[in-house]
Amino acid sequence: MSQPKIPDEQWAQVIEKDGGPITYKKIPVPKPRPDEVLVKIKYSGVCHTDLHALMGDWPLERKTPVVGGHEGAGEVVAKGEMVTKVEVGDYAGIKWLNSSCMSCTFCMQADESICPHAQLSGYTVDGTFQEYAVANAAHAARIPKGTDLAAIAPILCAGLTVYKGLKESGARPGQTVAIVGAGGGLGSLAIQYAKAMGLHVLAIDGGAEKGEFCKELGAMAYIDFTTAKDLVAEVKAAAGDEGLGPHAVLLLAPREKPFQQATGYVRSRGTVVCIGMPAGAMVSMPVFDTVTRMITVKGSYVGNRQDTQEAIDFFVRGLIKAPYKIVGLSEVQNVFDMMKESKIVGRYVVDMTK
Ligand SMILES: [Zn+2]
Ligand SMILES: [Zn+2]
Repeated sequence: MSQPKIPDEQWAQVIEKDGGPITYKKIPVPKPRPDEVLVKIKYSGVCHTDLHALMGDWPLERKTPVVGGHEGAGEVVAKGEMVTKVEVGDYAGIKWLNSSCMSCTFCMQADESICPHAQLSGYTVDGTFQEYAVANAAHAARIPKGTDLAAIAPILCAGLTVYKGLKESGARPGQTVAIVGAGGGLGSLAIQYAKAMGLHVLAIDGGAEKGEFCKELGAMAYIDFTTAKDLVAEVKAAAGDEGLGPHAVLLLAPREKPFQQATGYVRSRGTVVCIGMPAGAMVSMPVFDTVTRMITVKGSYVGNRQDTQEAIDFFVRGLIKAPYKIVGLSEVQNVFDMMKESKIVGRYVVDMTK
């Protein structure tokens, strides 16, 4: 098989200082280390996390300069000599978790997202807003040949995150999950995954338009928090079963208030899963209720290699649709500007050839 030609230089979007703007410039093409693959990125989704990375919003140290992006889908064009399970020509995805140590207690239990030595694409190592990017071969997502690489890019972060959150909720087929922020990008994917997993969805968001959207995606009920008089009572009633409330709650909203309300309507023995991260927000709940109703509150953060393959599998089977718009690599800052003004519906995906 002829080896693909790999140039020495390439275009990239580089974070050079907190607050941006991100810099569109030429940089050298990276070389894969022995356990890494070099992926020719065809498409990369733009995630809210990329904007947080650019702005320096998080209490988490970032490399500077760093190439942004962590939802890259493309083709393997080179690999290190230790890589055996991935071949040149395979499709691969580069996600937020670029690598982990594989030997700490968390990695040993496939909890690699909480590995203290985890490397994060577009944050602690160069990400996918470049034509060629490297990732640890064991952590790179396997994407079946023939998959639409533009459409699958958002699954590598947003899809994986909500799918893992649903698994962490412990909700089983036939049970009800409330999804808060159901009309947003993460929410629309969560509704589809929940349905595919046999769960009934109670969608919560603001405005009639989002309600229509959630119902089209298969939500059995919609609660509009902007018009609800008593949100907790309405959610419990909508869940059926004599108002016992939903078995699980997925918190995807970028606001703090839902993080205070969820323990009020979750069913006794139910689980509240925090996924969205409103800046500086606190979770609070009455201790009495938490104890006497045996409520679990937990966080869920991306997913492991197996979760990734499962999330991809649902997509490949045609069960998940993520609406997206294509932009060129030079236009990433424009997407960030729209994000800042909350003007984005669906996801923007960068086409590396544009
Ligand atoms: Zn992301
Ligand atoms: Zn580890």
